[in-house]
Amino acid sequence: MAVKKRVVVVGGGVGGTTVAKKLEQDADVTLIDPKEYYEVPFAQLRCIVEPKFAERTLIKHSDYLKTARHVQSAAESVSGSEVITASGDRVPFDFLVITTGTTFNGPSTRAERLKMFEAEKKKLSGANTVLIIGGGPVGVELAGEIATDFPEKKITLVHSGDRLIEYLGKKASQKALKWLRNKKVEVILNDRVEVGEGLAGPNYVTKNGTRIKADAHFVCIGKRVGSSWLRNSDLSYLLDNEGRLKVDANMRLEGKSNMFAVGDIANTKVCLSCALVSIVYSIAQTSLNMLVSGRVEFFSSRANSSCDAMPTS
Ligand SMILES: Cc1cc2nc3c(=O)[nH]c(=O)nc-3n(C[C@H](O)[C@H](O)[C@H](O)COP(=O)(O)OP(=O)(O)OC[C@H]3O[C@@H](n4cnc5c(N)ncnc54)[C@H](O)[C@@H]3O)c2cc1C
Repeated sequence: MAVKKRVVVVGGGVGGTTVAKKLEQDADVTLIDPKEYYEVPFAQLRCIVEPKFAERTLIKHSDYLKTARHVQSAAESVSGSEVITASGDRVPFDFLVITTGTTFNGPSTRAERLKMFEAEKKKLSGANTVLIIGGGPVGVELAGEIATDFPEKKITLVHSGDRLIEYLGKKASQKALKWLRNKKVEVILNDRVEVGEGLAGPNYVTKNGTRIKADAHFVCIGKRVGSSWLRNSDLSYLLDNEGRLKVDANMRLEGKSNMFAVGDIANTKVCLSCALVSIVYSIAQTSLNMLVSGRVEFFSSRANSSCDAMPTS
């Protein structure tokens, strides 16, 4: 029997877990992730208002991976054909898939993460007034969750832009604003609350001088790309100005035939939503499957600037 190729997947989020699960039958897969669990990101905000929900959305890697190995540590660098981890492991690969998304400083065990949601709920339950900082998708969704489950709470959402969820079209922004205002959420646009170490209530003052009284606040501003660990590695020259990895149409790192980047860390020109993460990972997946099984050496080149460049099967 042919020796299976070694595929190392760095990052146990949406992209990494899907690639690891799909490939584990055909390859010798190692998943490197500092957490013992996968967390469904779209459920995060529901879990704040309903922590029991997290019982279903925090899944231990050992519960869904049958043959793949999980190294519970953060990757620290890539050197030659090895990934070096914070725990001192050197994990060799034939193929590497980098999927470290955006930064997450949460706990490494599932039990601690569950407790964290319980603590968030407690903080929320004890607050009559709530301040949400940031009117992107996370801030808007959190305001919606709280307004739905706790209609009696006074919610204020402060957003620096002139419309909510700016990466979507104006119609979506207007719809979100109308929905929140119907639920009595006070939405303040074109203003900001400075977020720093000392941010504490109950008295907040916005940059424009508006005073807000709130028993609890939630910071919902954009996260950074999780690529700082690559800065001291052989691959640092492939990071663009935003810290994303430069990839070709098959999600391979530019100029590398055996290294891929999938998800929020890849500098694909398509919008970074999960639906697209899954399309994009399927391209990497198809390329990887073919490479791993030795059926093809190179894919024909495709443009990565639009969805219709993606394969349909
Ligand atoms: C609250 C919330 C709601 C969202 N809702 C939606 C939605 O409704 N629709 C949608 O399309 N998108 C949504 N998103 C965005 C979506 O979750 C991301 O696009 C998606 O998770 C990206 O997947 P990824 O695999 O690239 O990275 P992630 O899912 O962010 O996973 C990154 C993984 O890398 C690991 N990691 C980080 N650093 C290292 C390291 N040095 N070594 C090893 N592992 C490391 C982390 O532990 C994590 O497991 C939401 C995001 C959030 C936070």
